[in-house]
Amino acid sequence: MADIRRILVVGGGVGGLTAAASFARRGVEVVLIERRPAFDIPGVGLGQPANALRVYDTLGALDQILDTGFSYDRMWLFDASRRPIVEHKFLMGDERVPAFCALSRLELHEILLGVAQRSGVTVRLGLTVSEIHDDGDRVAVRFSTGEHDTFDLVAGFDGIRSTTRLHVAGTAFSPRPSGYGAWRVQAPRPEDVRGMEFLQGIGSKTGAMPLSNNIMYLFHIRPEAPGASFEGRDMVPLFKERLAQYGGYVAEIAASLTSESDIVYGPIEPLLLPWPWFRKRVVIGGDAAHTFAPHLTQGAAMAAEDGFVLAREVLNDDVAIEDRLMRYSMKRYPRCAFVYTFSGQWLLDEQSVRTASDMEAARAELTQNASARIGVSDRILDSAF
Ligand SMILES: Cc1cc2nc3c(=O)[nH]c(=O)nc-3n(C[C@H](O)[C@H](O)[C@H](O)COP(=O)(O)OP(=O)(O)OC[C@H]3O[C@@H](n4cnc5c(N)ncnc54)[C@H](O)[C@@H]3O)c2cc1C
Repeated sequence: MADIRRILVVGGGVGGLTAAASFARRGVEVVLIERRPAFDIPGVGLGQPANALRVYDTLGALDQILDTGFSYDRMWLFDASRRPIVEHKFLMGDERVPAFCALSRLELHEILLGVAQRSGVTVRLGLTVSEIHDDGDRVAVRFSTGEHDTFDLVAGFDGIRSTTRLHVAGTAFSPRPSGYGAWRVQAPRPEDVRGMEFLQGIGSKTGAMPLSNNIMYLFHIRPEAPGASFEGRDMVPLFKERLAQYGGYVAEIAASLTSESDIVYGPIEPLLLPWPWFRKRVVIGGDAAHTFAPHLTQGAAMAAEDGFVLAREVLNDDVAIEDRLMRYSMKRYPRCAFVYTFSGQWLLDEQSVRTASDMEAARAELTQNASARIGVSDRILDSAF
């Protein structure tokens, strides 16, 4: 609308790039700043469900994403020896978008960066915000370089350790250690890995997500001490030890790990900020406002939805800006709360399998209920937002 002509987006992840492109394609002047000096984003791969693919379609990026990634329409639950428990066909997607397309995080970022730049977004790297002064009509910003500028709106998509969240909500809400962590490594894709797989172990879970015809990533979720950090060559023996109970391709990948392997570890630290997700003219979205256990592969998808919905709600009419930002907050919160709760419960359920008899009970329960349970989630996430 006429009062939002120039905005600052803080953070160049999936959420920030989607927000920036969505505003710029509607004629708003957008400056996006990214703290990192280059777009060499760490991370392995991202499964992007149909709801995220529909957002990328509004940006004209769908074909490029589908050409780059690996599309799949089902997932499998196995035991640690890769004996099948459940095959689930996702109830998502339509004739235009597949249920899922997974690709490397770097490739997704490059595609979205290209869209943002072609839409006219000014991208500045190696820059952050030092101070924000918001008088309710304009937001004055001082950057880490000492430069000053003013904007009609500041949108913080600056991730789980967001400083924009501190401006909006203070220190009352921050990510909580769950006591669980995720290990990941890229590996060649065995031909029979045709969609996302979870291998339920005793005391941990492992899985795979294909990223292309040749590559997949292996992930492993287990209890880890809050604050634990693993580095360098120590990671190889620790990861091997953690994968020891798993058979099939997992055992082969474990055996092939060397000090050259790019193993990534991160704690799972859930957060759900209550609404409103704004103060005056500063608003947040993506991991800055919510982070989830990764089970529904919806973190980046919800960040992309946030960016799209923020632009739509801010630009669709000219009621007071606070009302538009409240509308954004209220539309986003229930969907994100659903993902937060569902994926958090899934994490707790799988990690509660601690003995052989727990495993047999889990096998029976999953055989009977898992597909129906995931199907409900598919339907909710596939619905309009
Ligand atoms: C193990 C694991 C697996 C996952 N798998 C999936 C999956 O398959 N599918 C999926 O959709 N999601 C997945 N996720 C979640 C997903 O990674 C995140 O939800 C998503 O990256 C959030 O995007 P974002 O843009 O909000 O934040 P980020 O990706 O964290 O981007 C924030 C950006 O802001 C920058 N930044 C930070 N502070 C500042 C500052 N002060 N100034 C300027 N720039 C700043 C950062 O450098 C970064 O580039 C997974 C997460 C984990 C942990």
